[in-house]
Amino acid sequence: MSFDNRLKIGILGGGQLGKMLIQAAQDFDFHISVLDPDPDAPCRHLAHSFTVGQLTDYQTVIDFAQDIDVLTIEIEKVNIDALEILELVGKKVFPQPAVLRKIQDKRIQKQFFIDNEIPTAAFILTENKADVIANFDFLPAVNKLAKDGYDGRGVQILRNAEDLEKAFEAPSLLEELVDFEKEIAVIVARNENGEVKTFPTVEMLFHPEANLVEFLFSPAQIDAKIDKKAQEIAIEVANKFEIVGLLAVEMFITKDGRVLVNEVAPRPHNSGHQTMRANDVSQFEQHLRAIMNLPLGDTKSNCFAAMVNILGEDGHTGKAIYQNMDVILKESGVHPFLYGKAITKPFRKMGHVTILEENFENLIKKANFVKETLKVVSR
Ligand code: ADP
Repeated sequence: MSFDNRLKIGILGGGQLGKMLIQAAQDFDFHISVLDPDPDAPCRHLAHSFTVGQLTDYQTVIDFAQDIDVLTIEIEKVNIDALEILELVGKKVFPQPAVLRKIQDKRIQKQFFIDNEIPTAAFILTENKADVIANFDFLPAVNKLAKDGYDGRGVQILRNAEDLEKAFEAPSLLEELVDFEKEIAVIVARNENGEVKTFPTVEMLFHPEANLVEFLFSPAQIDAKIDKKAQEIAIEVANKFEIVGLLAVEMFITKDGRVLVNEVAPRPHNSGHQTMRANDVSQFEQHLRAIMNLPLGDTKSNCFAAMVNILGEDGHTGKAIYQNMDVILKESGVHPFLYGKAITKPFRKMGHVTILEENFENLIKKANFVKETLKVVSR
């Protein structure tokens, strides 16, 4: 294990996660190149080099990686065939293409949990709508597209016969509807030496309409035994995948006290944004440490933290205006992060606000205040 900041890191994806990875990379003076299809992507002015191109195109990914030493991702939808070839010719690719293959398809991911005895909700595989209808007795259930769903798109609840009309006409999962008490997440980091560290468990509250995380609280206010279980499960999942890099493990706590894995993401994650202010080491720095095979940082949180996603207001599409930013900035412990997206759309993730507090009750009040006060609108 040796530190060499002349090594060039390439990131597939130039969105907000890439942007925050670059912020962390600057402290280590790492050289970062970014590939993204959008010439206006958040990373466009921040990377040492920025290439416009499709992440799903084989040759584009191969060409991008030519002068890169360590390749990583900020989005799972990338060309894995290209990553496999790059790995074969000796490039470091983290997370490894084999791990991405298991995670990119939700059906393979679920089967991996079953094969490795990771607790998860019961499910059946469906190929099309007719298949879902034939499995009517499995309802109420959650219908999930195997591929290309993200941020709640590609996930829908089917409660009764009337809902069957909506069933996906593509390879999907039909998953038992979990009556959960809380949704939690644990971010695990694992480096090439096999060193593993977790961030404290967080709890997430979802926006009912947009299916996006609306509030996040850290550390989760849960029973110590359940917390221990969640941490153990998250480590187990990361070790079973043998992932190098970050793995965000999203879980449900059921009303009868079980912990079930919902899904995993092999990269920095929305459920770890607060670590940039609230923890010794941020998830972004930790990801860089993991993929560069450096000692992992101390993950402890230094105070209570909340994260509020800044979503585009419903009914507004156009040049983004951040209303009442000056009002929330008057409060102590309020830290906005804007992603640099020029155009707002209903429920588009435009940024987030991290809120720090010594007292949990005050934290909830302040998080609600920020949520109700800061609005992204267009003219
Ligand atoms: P995505 O990949 O879009 O994030 P998820 O599988 O995380 O999709 O599902 C999005 C949300 O839908 C979850 O955070 C949870 O609120 C709800 N959900 C997903 N699966 C289930 C389930 N089996 N039972 C109940 N709710 C679920």
